[in-house]
Amino acid sequence: FGGIVKEPPMHIVHIAVEMAPIAKVGGLGDVVTSLSRAVQDLNHNVNIILPKYDCLNLSHVKDLHYQKSYSWGGTEIKVWFGKVEGLSVYFLEPQNGFVWTGCVYGCKNDAERFGFFCHAALEFLHQGGLQPDIIHCHDWSSAPVAWLFKDHYMHYGLSKTRVVFTIHNLEFGAHFIGKAMAYADKATTVSHTYSKEVAGNPAVAPHLHKFHGILNGIDLDIWDPYNDKFIPVPYTSENVVEGKRAAKEALQQRLGLKKSDHPLVGIITRLTHQKGIHLIKHAIWNTLKRNGQVVLLGSAPDPRIQNDFVNLANQLHSSHSDQARLCLTYDEPLSHLIYAGADFILVPSIFEPCGLTQLTAMRYGSIPVVRKTGGDFMILYSMLTMIKLELKHKVLNPTDLTSMELMVLESIMPSIGLSLLGMMVGTGLTHCARG
Ligand code: ADP
Repeated sequence: FGGIVKEPPMHIVHIAVEMAPIAKVGGLGDVVTSLSRAVQDLNHNVNIILPKYDCLNLSHVKDLHYQKSYSWGGTEIKVWFGKVEGLSVYFLEPQNGFVWTGCVYGCKNDAERFGFFCHAALEFLHQGGLQPDIIHCHDWSSAPVAWLFKDHYMHYGLSKTRVVFTIHNLEFGAHFIGKAMAYADKATTVSHTYSKEVAGNPAVAPHLHKFHGILNGIDLDIWDPYNDKFIPVPYTSENVVEGKRAAKEALQQRLGLKKSDHPLVGIITRLTHQKGIHLIKHAIWNTLKRNGQVVLLGSAPDPRIQNDFVNLANQLHSSHSDQARLCLTYDEPLSHLIYAGADFILVPSIFEPCGLTQLTAMRYGSIPVVRKTGGDFMILYSMLTMIKLELKHKVLNPTDLTSMELMVLESIMPSIGLSLLGMMVGTGLTHCARG
């Protein structure tokens, strides 16, 4: 990115059910925003079509206003327009209640709600006479765009449009994904490694000729410790120690933890099987045993897992109230403070198509502790080059690590099979990477 576009500007429309920071559940929401911004920076014209959930975080939408209504699918659909992180977003609000559910996901009829939204979005383009060059849809939730477009719109006014479909996580809705793969003109996924990992999946295998793994990145302006309103002292590699110390103290104070220089392990995650819940628990206990501190920010879509963590939180908040805080919710501002204030960010995923968490950790000078999964490895490997350049070797100097930090590393990693790839370049600490 950052070069001058040689081809004429294209009109690209994302149809998505998540968008950071106003309707984000995980990495898909981040990517819709960061990819759009990067492509817009290349002078292309980018729009996003999003459901106007009743739970949108409207404080991040500039100049939101009602534009018009249209009728479709037996209901009236109101169209709103606003700017989010500099991007033009159309919000669709069908009056049948499909987006007034207080959540993005989690209703019994999610497939029906999102199917309706996809069709309504195409109808909006059609009725408005918009003819984008590319419609980009994401995962199972906007997969129906691919076939609805080909079946109902391509031959009726949208003939120059092509459809790109991105798989963010094949775990979700493989059935939908297979159909979208068949109908899309091009398909991508979020890392080269993941494209290889899923190449044998029946949803993907027949379509390899049009399938590409393109590594995700994070938006360096949105995630910038030098310009982040949620952390107390702006920092770069020049004052990273001071900046992180201030953030750690603010985090400890905000969550009622003891002010301490001992290593603080941060965990920011959806609490699902994919994210290595058993490893997270194990690491929490191991860190506490060795006098480290732990802050977990996470929420579970499955009420049984959420309950399990509520019980763990109650237990830890009484047995280790100085050392551990489990915040079982979704909280974007708090996530920034944790990325900045933690010494380590734990990401023990069982599998990870790409994983943005460890990228953001590195952006904030926290060391990601990860399992050796395909996506992670690729990401860390390529990001290390960037860290080396950006931080001019300073942050990864082994002498920066206290003996306590080394002890925590040594104890966490072998016991739960983690590898600390982030330590491997230029540090002489490769013996740490045992996973
Ligand atoms: P996935 O897309 O599988 O959830 P990623 O690591 O790619 O995993 O992206 C997760 C994104 O969601 C990151 O930006 C992370 O900071 C954010 N996130 C996850 N859980 C929470 C939470 N409880 N509160 C705030 N942000 C969260």
